[in-house]
Amino acid sequence: MRINVAELLQRPVGSTTSYPLEETIEVADGGPSRLAGALQLMRIGRGILMRAGIDTSYKVVCSRCLETFDYPVRLNIEEEFFQKADVNTGGPLPVPSDNGAFLIDENQELDTDEAVRQHIVMSMPMHPICREDCPGLCPRCGQNLKEGLCACDQREEDPRWKRLREWASRNDKD
Ligand SMILES: [Zn+2]
Ligand SMILES: [Zn+2]
Repeated sequence: MRINVAELLQRPVGSTTSYPLEETIEVADGGPSRLAGALQLMRIGRGILMRAGIDTSYKVVCSRCLETFDYPVRLNIEEEFFQKADVNTGGPLPVPSDNGAFLIDENQELDTDEAVRQHIVMSMPMHPICREDCPGLCPRCGQNLKEGLCACDQREEDPRWKRLREWASRNDKD
């Protein structure tokens, strides 16, 4: 979402405005993400502080069964946007040398999407699972065990694992 902050920049430090947030943004790998929440912009010394609480979800692949599913997340975002140009004179202002800093452009507009996108990517789980008890794929034939057991002989188990399992179940009983 692009927001013109010229008016807010002319108000004293600490002034705020709030916006509802309802939109869909494209995120690499995750597909389109529907955003629902609210954001608040606050005038701070060098620009604007954005705070947002956003509910969204995106597509991830289960690391066990390899099925794609919707992964819901709650994002709590706090990011600074720096002014490139003085709001009254239009004259250039020094911006952080850090290339990743979020900027308010010469028209005094800021774009929330890139900040939200970065937080979505940071929230992506390393090993997502579609549900806690997902049984995954059969290591031998690749059958998705969520859809039912395969014909592979489960008794042909490595004997060392079998002994460990027996030992564990004995301990459970104690
Ligand atoms: Zn799964
Ligand atoms: Zn199998």
